[in-house]
Amino acid sequence: MSIELRNVTKRFGDVPAVSDVSFTVGEGELVALLGPSGGGKTTVLRMIAGLEVPTSGDLFIRGQRVNDVSVQQRNIGFVFQGYALFKTMSVFDNIAFGLKIKKWKKADIADRVGELLKLFGLDGLARRYPHQLSGGQRQRVAIARSLAPRPGVLLLDEPFGAVDAKIRQELREWLVQLHDDLDVTTVFVTHDQEEALEVSNRIVIFSRGRLEQIGTPREVYEQPKNEFVARFIGVMNVLELTVRDGHARVNELSFPAHGAAEGRTLRIGFRPYAVQVSSNLGEHRHRATLKHVYFLGVLLRLELETPSGLVIRARITKEEFSRLGLEEDREVSFQIREYRVLSREGDALPPESAVAHQMSYAEGI
Ligand code: ATP
Repeated sequence: MSIELRNVTKRFGDVPAVSDVSFTVGEGELVALLGPSGGGKTTVLRMIAGLEVPTSGDLFIRGQRVNDVSVQQRNIGFVFQGYALFKTMSVFDNIAFGLKIKKWKKADIADRVGELLKLFGLDGLARRYPHQLSGGQRQRVAIARSLAPRPGVLLLDEPFGAVDAKIRQELREWLVQLHDDLDVTTVFVTHDQEEALEVSNRIVIFSRGRLEQIGTPREVYEQPKNEFVARFIGVMNVLELTVRDGHARVNELSFPAHGAAEGRTLRIGFRPYAVQVSSNLGEHRHRATLKHVYFLGVLLRLELETPSGLVIRARITKEEFSRLGLEEDREVSFQIREYRVLSREGDALPPESAVAHQMSYAEGI
């Protein structure tokens, strides 16, 4: 089922939790609502579920306005934080709960629960109680319970929040698989950008109740609309420069800025992968000390510090690191291959053509 929010606002007394938000989730999509704490993500999810009513604006499910439709009539499955499993019920009874309420026949309930136990990798655990399960298993039972009555939409609030890093990773992969298998329209809330990038088809980014950007993981990463999104998604180096004598400068870094007004300040952002590093001091124009190397698996994050104390984050592969013979606390040379000129936080970035123009003299950095 598709979902549409049209100019939706929600206030709690004087608090504007969600301000004039519009977006659409297509049939069968897997969409992440992402943003810092207090951004309004849970409130949006609760409005879709029917647990909160918008103060203004309209909500549509499958093209029908549902502002006044009750939770029960919306045919939505959800797992909210704090909606724990029923402790005194077995796994079987937890999953069967919604079906009993809907007065399904006993045999149909047994079939459906059996099907879900299999699908969720919970075979053999039907008679256990929640306290006899791992965190990841509990979370899967909770999702199985919400899916039992075959809802058209699945809503998950921080579904991987309460489990450790390894299980979190397993659950992410499992959710993608489950979504592929069931094809149910799914919206989940997270404040973890990596999770949103890895799991979802599209990401809706919120900050302070406003929708900052909506797009595929690639779009929001490569074409952030503003500085907030640029900094929130992935790692972004940001430098503030001032134009003097035709060059934009910050400490020892400078680059040509033809036509920019003297004294103007501008901010640039560049991703760690855009920084080229070499142990050969003559190779690139700038010098820095390699302060730290963080191992992230196949990729390494490098922290460089220029003589004046600017910190630049770079990212390279393990192979490159060995090939380049880099070592901590040694001097390196570096250059920045490409960057974007950022506007003030909250403003739109300059049009693509302006960015492209600015990028054309990136070589000089
Ligand atoms: P988190 O990641 O911390 O869960 P969130 O992005 O989900 O945050 P919401 O829970 O939607 O944010 O909250 C948005 C704003 O609305 C916050 O300022 C919050 O304090 C406020 N808020 C949420 N629910 C209520 C409520 N029932 N009464 C009053 N204010 C509320």
